[in-house]
Amino acid sequence: MYDSIKTYLDQHNIQLIAVSKNRTLEEILSLYHKGQHAFGENKVQELLAKRSQLPPDIEWHLIGHLQSNKVKQIIPYISMIQSVDSEELLITINKYSIKYKIVTKVLLQVHIASEETKFGLSSEELFSLIDHVSVHPLSNIQICGLMGMATNTQDMTVVHNEFKHLHDLFDEIREKCSFLQPHFQHLSMGMSSDYKEAIEEGANMVRIGSALF
Ligand SMILES: *Cc1c(COP(=O)(O)O)cnc(C)c1O
Repeated sequence: MYDSIKTYLDQHNIQLIAVSKNRTLEEILSLYHKGQHAFGENKVQELLAKRSQLPPDIEWHLIGHLQSNKVKQIIPYISMIQSVDSEELLITINKYSIKYKIVTKVLLQVHIASEETKFGLSSEELFSLIDHVSVHPLSNIQICGLMGMATNTQDMTVVHNEFKHLHDLFDEIREKCSFLQPHFQHLSMGMSSDYKEAIEEGANMVRIGSALF
């Protein structure tokens, strides 16, 4: 499945993060040898264990909830943290990025689904976080865009509406918050079950796992 999905994404100019949670090193390497170098994991321990045994030019994205007390372990090894869901977490990421003398790219995760359980900022929290950052800049953070997950439902109208909502927030921030440029460019939405809908609604980065393997 990797080849056909990758061809489709390339035609639409969409960046693929291959979600490798629960996959073996061999499975990951088989995609790596096809040229896939960006992988996503949702747990810190699993990401660190895999990365130490895989080629060093793999770009790792953390896509799952990150606890503040695990930030220091992950910072030196990560290309992007897509799951920033609180101001406190962002400040902690900045603190350790300063300590390690690196700049960390992040996406802000927005809660767009109807399920209670999915993490993410409400729109109010999103704008309040951005306001805060505009007044108190975080020297070692690049806010590169937004990430979201739609409701897990067969009703694609719901999914379309949720992705459209995230795209509207993305456009609004791009219009109003020029201080976030040139970095604020990524709209990460869509997984195996809904990546086509996400692309129709303006995603430029998708996180696909099960459909690839
Ligand atoms: C697991 C996961 C994905 C990929 O899900 P699939 O259904 O396997 O494509 C995408 N994003 C997040 C945040 C995930 O945890």
